[in-house]
Amino acid sequence: MGTAAERREELKAVWRQAQTCTKCPQLAAARQTVVFGSGNADADLMFIGEAPGANEDKQGLPFVGQAGRLLDTLLHEIGLERGDAFIANVLNCRPPGNRDPLPQEIDACQDYLFRQIELIEPRVICTLGNFSTKLLRADPTGITRLHGREEVRRIGPRRVRLYPIYHPAAALYTPKMLEVLREDFQRLPGLLALDPPEQPEPDPEPELVVPEPEIVADAEPASQLGLF
Ligand code: URA
Repeated sequence: MGTAAERREELKAVWRQAQTCTKCPQLAAARQTVVFGSGNADADLMFIGEAPGANEDKQGLPFVGQAGRLLDTLLHEIGLERGDAFIANVLNCRPPGNRDPLPQEIDACQDYLFRQIELIEPRVICTLGNFSTKLLRADPTGITRLHGREEVRRIGPRRVRLYPIYHPAAALYTPKMLEVLREDFQRLPGLLALDPPEQPEPDPEPELVVPEPEIVADAEPASQLGLF
């Protein structure tokens, strides 16, 4: 799709566009910042959470509260840090009172997420919890059944290894879930070490159809043609 530098420039353009987004009037009116995501724009690994909370909304960065600290710890335990990944969310704006994202909000925001994925070109996408897992799999199967199971999926123009795991916020107060999340996390380095999934043939370029020039009796003067 272009060099890493070109894809990063395009990602910046999408970021700029998202900054003034008003597709969800309630979220746009209540937010302090648009939390677009952060990290390495050319990362092999992407994490996708649910939506910004109060801390994220204030700072404009994803996963900077308690769940984010747990994410940092889990990354550290497998020898990685934030800068090795790109972290995004299903929604770029905080739902008031931390309510669940509404279907129409997920719908409105998904183009940003799919464009991010297309531009970053990760090999592994780790969905955190139900919302991102259901969106990326386009299927209502829940995280309890899917966590820790990698599958190769086509997302947009590319195939990626999709790896759903529990959301760190869900594991904060449930030691059993934290244990499972930790175990699932330990498999990430192995997934990253696999060969990248084979990519589909690029869609053929649409054939350029040059229309026959229409012969009109009193056509524009010939000098006009120089403009094209
Ligand atoms: N939970 C999320 O899903 N995303 C964040 O950015 C923070 C908490």
